[in-house]
Amino acid sequence: MDNLVDILDSFQPGWRKKEYVENFITILRDKVIPAYSFMDSKIENGRAVFPKEWDQVIYALKEAHFFELFVPPEYGGQKTSEEDIYFAMELLGYSSPGMGIIFVSHGRAIDILAMGTEKQKQEFLPRMAQGHLGAIAITEEKAGSDAGAVELMAKKVDHHYLVNGQKIFISNSGLADVYTVLASTKDIKGPRSLSVLIVESDTPGFTINRLPEKEGLKILPTGKLIFKDSPVPLANMVGNEGMGLLLTLDVIDRGRIHIAGICCGLAYRIFREIYHYAHRRKQFDHPLTSSQDISFQISDMYSKINAARGLCFQALRQFGTPYYRMSSSQAKLFASQMVMDIAAKAQILMGGRGYLKNDLINQLSADARGMEYLEGTSNVQKMIIARELFRMYHKEKNNVD
Ligand SMILES: Cc1cc2nc3c(=O)[nH]c(=O)nc-3n(C[C@H](O)[C@H](O)[C@H](O)COP(=O)(O)OP(=O)(O)OC[C@H]3O[C@@H](n4cnc5c(N)ncnc54)[C@H](O)[C@@H]3O)c2cc1C
Repeated sequence: MDNLVDILDSFQPGWRKKEYVENFITILRDKVIPAYSFMDSKIENGRAVFPKEWDQVIYALKEAHFFELFVPPEYGGQKTSEEDIYFAMELLGYSSPGMGIIFVSHGRAIDILAMGTEKQKQEFLPRMAQGHLGAIAITEEKAGSDAGAVELMAKKVDHHYLVNGQKIFISNSGLADVYTVLASTKDIKGPRSLSVLIVESDTPGFTINRLPEKEGLKILPTGKLIFKDSPVPLANMVGNEGMGLLLTLDVIDRGRIHIAGICCGLAYRIFREIYHYAHRRKQFDHPLTSSQDISFQISDMYSKINAARGLCFQALRQFGTPYYRMSSSQAKLFASQMVMDIAAKAQILMGGRGYLKNDLINQLSADARGMEYLEGTSNVQKMIIARELFRMYHKEKNNVD
């Protein structure tokens, strides 16, 4: 991991001297990386259950003030830059991509809450800076890529919404204390009926079930949320009624760059493993790297990781501008395809060992494939990029004509 830390520091000299960074790196090196192969989660009786090492990791991260990075300083967090969070994601991607996703989902829940009322911010954000985790719940059986098709019903009754329905594939299920949930609060159908509600984990009638086991990202608890007449206070709506989809899509733009960072960190880990293996492994009396084909493959891998990182930095620089949506989608599209490609090639370079179920490269490859679905599939990114391009050129045409 030291090389990766040096590379990141070269992009932003001085980053390494920040208070939390050395502690964070030590936790990853000493506690997270050694536990990668066996650290998984299960959902039992509505709660996510981890091996005992998990508690030690979370305790150490709290002590290192890591949770504060995601929360604005006025609410108990720390003053951070977009690069700080991105670097943390690359390091998590290298050490434990599933754990990276836990923090991407947590961060998106915080981004949503940060758009809430002063009372909502005061109530939830300081808790989250202390280590209470959040989740963001959009996906349903009939609403995957098309988030506007969400049907979860929240009907106004006296001082509450009564929520009924289900969400699936929700990261941090049974782990989070605070769920930001996209629900239909109006009698009309379609995207304009959708609003975001804050649902606390102890809400009556709110339960969590397990889903069939995932292929990778084992540490990430991904479950089904079930709501049966669950009362949610009217005051728990974030933003204006009917604006929930727009609000959610805005925060997901930021999530895309974080997923792209996880992809770059994970790709670097795979690259490093295969680089050393190809030097060690001898066939025909020579290391694999003496073959020009293999050394060229390794060069290509490294170049593609840096190309993806370049797109990530472009997006980071465009944060807050009208180009951010397109650039964060481009970064996510390229980085997720890059890591899947590198993982597939690395498995072949490992020979038969790469096909063994518990082999590290096989586990990392399964994590890499999971990157396709998070914060929108590749086709969804292409839809966004095309839409943004049309918007840009339509504007230019109107100015010219
Ligand atoms: C590990 C993991 C964690 C997740 N965490 C969360 C979470 O925390 N919160 C949450 O809300 N959701 C979460 N999800 C769900 C994820 O967001 C969805 O899986 C994703 O949006 C795709 O939806 P879908 O699976 O229903 O696929 P579908 O939307 O059914 O798509 C199937 C395929 O068709 C393609 N496709 C769909 N429509 C079109 C079109 N018009 N044109 C071209 N191609 C199209 C897609 O790209 C995809 O390849 C998670 C999923 C996974 C695997």
